[in-house]
Amino acid sequence: MEPSLSAGDFYLLEDEWTAEQRGVAERVRAFIDAEVMPYAGEWHERAVFPRELIPRIAGLDLLDRLAHNAIDPISYGLAMRELERGSSALRSLMSVQGGLVIFPIMAFGSDEQKARWLGPLGRLDAIGCFALTEPAFGSNPAGMTTRAERVPGGFRIHGHKRWATNGTIAQVAVVWAKWDGKVCGFLIETDRRGFQPRPIHNKWSFRASESSELILENVEVPESALLPGAQSLGAAIACLNQARYSIVWGVVGAAAACIEETLAYLKARPQFDGKPLAGHQLIQHRFAWMTAELTGMQLLAKRLGDLKAAGRLKAAQVSLAKMNNCRKAIEIARACRELLGANGIVNDYHVGRRMLDLETVITYEGTEHIHALVVGQELTGLKAFS
Ligand SMILES: Cc1cc2nc3c(=O)[nH]c(=O)nc-3n(C[C@H](O)[C@H](O)[C@H](O)COP(=O)(O)OP(=O)(O)OC[C@H]3O[C@@H](n4cnc5c(N)ncnc54)[C@H](O)[C@@H]3O)c2cc1C
Repeated sequence: MEPSLSAGDFYLLEDEWTAEQRGVAERVRAFIDAEVMPYAGEWHERAVFPRELIPRIAGLDLLDRLAHNAIDPISYGLAMRELERGSSALRSLMSVQGGLVIFPIMAFGSDEQKARWLGPLGRLDAIGCFALTEPAFGSNPAGMTTRAERVPGGFRIHGHKRWATNGTIAQVAVVWAKWDGKVCGFLIETDRRGFQPRPIHNKWSFRASESSELILENVEVPESALLPGAQSLGAAIACLNQARYSIVWGVVGAAAACIEETLAYLKARPQFDGKPLAGHQLIQHRFAWMTAELTGMQLLAKRLGDLKAAGRLKAAQVSLAKMNNCRKAIEIARACRELLGANGIVNDYHVGRRMLDLETVITYEGTEHIHALVVGQELTGLKAFS
């Protein structure tokens, strides 16, 4: 008899991966099962980021390969999927380090910046953060008030950034500031005088992630801090598109894990005449709906990976996938939360934590509305942002 199809791979997509891609996914999954799943609820509850895990994440060899252009987009995506199966905060550490710090150095950095930073960042010996958002400018970063001005031998940067992930543990920050009216990227060591990171507390989402405010009070940096190729907002957006790609895959992992956990729970919970809840019609309808949505998310992620590998990926395609996959993932997580009943609100189960973290994921790297406007502009040729 043929084995039953599972919600996580209803259309046998796993058959599509090469042995190498499958190997990456299996390695990350084994790491998540052993090192993350037993503790993730506690990190969330205590609102701590597991810094001690950083060397072991480095051992997965994902970012080092990224920094050397030695990992294909599908392998990278599968790794993100497995990481976010464990924790959105952990996947975010990798997305920031990979897409928002390593990528800008590779794409826009000088030879000196590449030689100084790519090795340590790839090995996670150095942590980086990305500071674009400001207290008054999130969806519209073009309005930023952070300024850079020329001083002898370099620049002086003054401004206030907010929500920089890993800002409090970073050794280097990719800071976006206006210089001569243009948005420019600067690579700033965080021990510079005037650079003040402050943790953001009181979060009920992304509790296990280091979110920070960055005050830059007349921070002086040498000429060599400017990322020479990053002298427009388009450069910052190109970085965001890398990180959005990893979100598209990551939320597939979060949604699949919610479905798996909920299905196991409902199969083992008899109610009404001793029949497991999973055997009731309304519940099966929800699972069929969630599996259809998850399958759509997976196919979109795969197609995005194929287009990326072929060098044909357009920003609007990333936007559509980010918008769609985050919305579907959060709907699945909310449905699973309900299906777990009262147990859905305790950290003995992972669904509640995942659902709360997805509130961040649907907001950062461009909200759903902003991505809809990007897609709308692509379709109509008309800009509707303002
Ligand atoms: C945990 C966390 C981590 C983050 N990490 C980083 C990071 O590492 N680096 C970084 O730079 N930033 C980071 N961010 C910031 C994030 O990218 C911004 O919060 C996001 O871009 C939205 O900006 P905002 O919060 O200012 O919302 P706003 O721009 O104020 O938007 C508020 C609402 O209005 C809607 N809206 C805005 N403009 C329009 C429009 N034109 N039409 C219709 N609706 C509109 C939005 O969709 C949203 O629903 C992080 C955020 C969080 C929560």
